[in-house]
Amino acid sequence: MTLDSKVPKGPIKDKWTTYKDKINLVNPANKRLIDIIVVGTGLAGGSAAATLAELGYNVKAFCFQDSPRRAHSIAAQGGINAAKNYQGDGDSVYRLFYDTVKGGDYRSREANVHRLAEVSVNIIDQCVAQGVPFARDYGGLLDNRSFGGVLVSRTFYAKGQTGQQLLLGAYSAMNRQIGRGKIKMYNRHEMLDVVIVDGKARGIIARNLVTGEIERHSAHAVVLGTGGYGNAFYLSTYAMGSNVTAAWKAHKRGALFANPCFTQIHPTCIPVSGDHQSKLTLMSESLRNDGRIWVPKKLEDAKAIQEGKLKPTEIKEADRDYFLERRYPAFGNLVPRDVASRAAKERCDAGFGVNATGEAVYLDFAAAIQRYGKEQAHVKGLDESDSDLVTKLGKEIIKSKYGNLFQMYEKIIDQNPYETPMMIYPAVHYTMGGIWVDYNLMTTVPGLYCIGEANFSDHGANRLGASALMQGLADGYFVLPYTIGDFLADDIRTGPIPVDTTEFDDAEKNVKDKLDKLITNKGKYSVDHFHKRLGKIMWNKCGMSRNAKDLKEAIIEIAELRKEFWKDVKVPGNADEYNEELAKAGRVADFLELGELFAKDALHREESCGGHFREEHQTEEGEAKRRKEFQYVAAWEYKGEPKDAVLHKEDLKYEDIEVKERSYK
Ligand SMILES: Cc1cc2nc3c(=O)[nH]c(=O)nc-3n(C[C@H](O)[C@H](O)[C@H](O)COP(=O)(O)OP(=O)(O)OC[C@H]3O[C@@H](n4cnc5c(N)ncnc54)[C@H](O)[C@@H]3O)c2cc1C
Repeated sequence: MTLDSKVPKGPIKDKWTTYKDKINLVNPANKRLIDIIVVGTGLAGGSAAATLAELGYNVKAFCFQDSPRRAHSIAAQGGINAAKNYQGDGDSVYRLFYDTVKGGDYRSREANVHRLAEVSVNIIDQCVAQGVPFARDYGGLLDNRSFGGVLVSRTFYAKGQTGQQLLLGAYSAMNRQIGRGKIKMYNRHEMLDVVIVDGKARGIIARNLVTGEIERHSAHAVVLGTGGYGNAFYLSTYAMGSNVTAAWKAHKRGALFANPCFTQIHPTCIPVSGDHQSKLTLMSESLRNDGRIWVPKKLEDAKAIQEGKLKPTEIKEADRDYFLERRYPAFGNLVPRDVASRAAKERCDAGFGVNATGEAVYLDFAAAIQRYGKEQAHVKGLDESDSDLVTKLGKEIIKSKYGNLFQMYEKIIDQNPYETPMMIYPAVHYTMGGIWVDYNLMTTVPGLYCIGEANFSDHGANRLGASALMQGLADGYFVLPYTIGDFLADDIRTGPIPVDTTEFDDAEKNVKDKLDKLITNKGKYSVDHFHKRLGKIMWNKCGMSRNAKDLKEAIIEIAELRKEFWKDVKVPGNADEYNEELAKAGRVADFLELGELFAKDALHREESCGGHFREEHQTEEGEAKRRKEFQYVAAWEYKGEPKDAVLHKEDLKYEDIEVKERSYK
């Protein structure tokens, strides 16, 4: 198999424009003759479904929740990037492109990232037109804040609920099309296989999660916008239902899986509290605009804090180590996530952690409260030396910016973050890896597309904050609706795809057999039992830092755990009814296969880059050390067992950006 990324020729600035000018299109009358399945109605799938239907295609959209409004995208807090340069601080399409390629540690495809930066400006206009209530400054103009890894303010936001507001926009656009009959919405349906006919993706097998019924759906093309797979780690900031099943089934049907080991560990999450926890909570990266990250300088202070004998507010300024500001003076607390996460882990591993388990650092707003308070007192002509007044005014500003995040923190930890620093620790948050796609966002299976977090395309080895929403909406509103026409132009005379064929028979049998096996297994242990064990292997051996010994062990342990799962898993109830445990079992079965490929990918990548930190490859200062030999996308072909997967390489050529050592100092 040869990987053809189909990147157009010509200068990077013109590629997308020229490509759009020349690409095959389907005329409006013919679009009515074409069906498209969109699996997933988060920001990527929802925006794609709405736009494709608006263009005139017949769309069938699927999600496993009871409404598209409940996709994982709703959880996104901090914001969405766009190169609007509203702040006049030197931003541009090129700078967003450059920051994203550098942020991803030179492991993303240059042409895709430039296109992303180009269309970023359209996304904001589109969403404003839909009525998305982005934050505005006093004069009514759209406001921006900063996120990690950049030197400008380009992040548009709606308090700490940006994902929710954007999703309402996409959902409203979808609803208009549902009302027109152009989208047929299948809520509470889970895609369990892709159907390939004559080498092309022509349908899916889905399970109605309420009745248990297995259904066949056909179309001329299938689009997956099914999100990321970070829940392979069990504990993560993902929605509980997020999973890899759709992507994994596509992989088994011929779609290559790219860079599975590229996972983002987010530095500002609420620390793990105990063994019975099933979910981790993110504290948005936007908090790093104003929060300062620190641990005690002295080990004895850290010990006293861990034992509950000392409070952070009792530690003098001179005895605090603002380790990000110390190590990375240029970017300070706004270094990229991979850098911030590793630095926090390094301090905690050295014994300076600040909770009972020693796995937390402080995120402190005291300085920001004073700074804002003084500014407000000045603006209002009040007494700047009145410390109570300054504190009160400062807290009001912090509340207006991050109020809902502070409230969430207080509810979970039962401490008031306006008075005492938050405790944070890195947690699994996003997967940069995913299904390999070409410039058209088509997978290696003709007619099968993949968009949003589910594909691998734009973030390289580390995603910059506020770039996932940008990518999902770029793919769905502005890229796929053009590129899919190139494939569908050949299908205007094909007619409806029948579902009474052997291809559909075989795929349906495959799904039913798997479900039967899970139900009739009658083992001893719950699905969660296996999921938790997988999560522990993933976190301990494939997590924030990796080495060959651990990864080799992980490969063996995951393969053994998978065998145990199939021997001993117990799934109560039946397949022909509402059965949440059965749905979960199928997802964990797929995580158990993906996990092994993940470890295999991490083992083969003998370098450190972005979120993939190999202990064998680091500088003397403990920074990630890239290797030129690995400047490629690792795309894996399914061959039966994860251990037999075959590696294909897409070489990454940086024609426009000079590949340099990645420094945030
Ligand atoms: C707490 C949190 C905060 C975040 N904050 C930000 C932020 O501020 N800015 C930013 O840019 N990014 C942020 N992110 C990341 C961002 O939210 C996600 O990457 C993005 O929303 C993913 O969108 P998506 O449409 O690709 O997938 P999702 O929103 O995960 O949607 C997946 C869809 O696929 C469906 N689906 C999945 N499998 C199947 C199946 N087998 N059958 C049928 N349907 C299926 C689901 O029902 C759902 O509709 C955050 C993430 C988290 C966890």
